[in-house]
Amino acid sequence: WEKEMAKLARLNLIGEMAAGIAHEIRNPMTTIRGFLQMSKKNQSLTVDYIDIMLEELNRANGIITEFLSLAKNKTTHLKRQNLNEIIASMEPLIQAEAMLSGKHLHVHYGTIDDLQLDDKEIRQLILNMAINGLEAMSPGGAFTISTYTEGKKVILKLEDQGSGIKEEYVEKLGTPFFTTKETGTGLGLAVCYSIAARHKAEIELKSGDKGTVFFIKF
Ligand code: ADP
Ligand code: MG
Repeated sequence: WEKEMAKLARLNLIGEMAAGIAHEIRNPMTTIRGFLQMSKKNQSLTVDYIDIMLEELNRANGIITEFLSLAKNKTTHLKRQNLNEIIASMEPLIQAEAMLSGKHLHVHYGTIDDLQLDDKEIRQLILNMAINGLEAMSPGGAFTISTYTEGKKVILKLEDQGSGIKEEYVEKLGTPFFTTKETGTGLGLAVCYSIAARHKAEIELKSGDKGTVFFIKF
């Protein structure tokens, strides 16, 4: 019975994901087809329209990439290494991203043991969380990344001063395609949750009107 239920739940999830993907890919295709039809009539396609088409293609491509990184049976390449080094290698990128929208980045490197990590995946997780944090804040806000040891666990803390997450949305976080954003994909956190699971890490969060804190516990 439980097996059957799990199977049903999975089928349901696959259905939801397929519907989401179809929607996300069809939108850019509709836009591009419209522009191409228009240009066939007028024999002209301005650079602006070409740029929009390229952007739409990039978006669709990004969605497919994220979706594939969610796919099961993906092999994780775990290597003994320090989380602080991975964060340090990303600091310039997140710093630049923050600066572009008038926000700040702070990083606190705690004393932590090495962990078995897939550095590519951990980079992806941190980047997805940082983008969400930055997107949630108004200019002037600060995004803070910290590492520290708590008992036998290494904690990665990602804190923003953004709008917070409504209580009723919290249980939906990590569900593919759940988004509250106009042009969101709803895949960022789903990818984070699956990466955390592959590392046997837990994700906890606290959210309120002063912002949101995610704790990844390794
Ligand atoms: P997307 O960013 O494309 O919407 P995500 O999976 O990254 O998709 O996030 C899903 C949803 O979770 C967001 O639309 C937003 O409502 C909420 N969320 C995630 N992180 C934060 C955050 N740091 N602050 C506020 N809301 C967040
Ligand atoms: Mg996101």
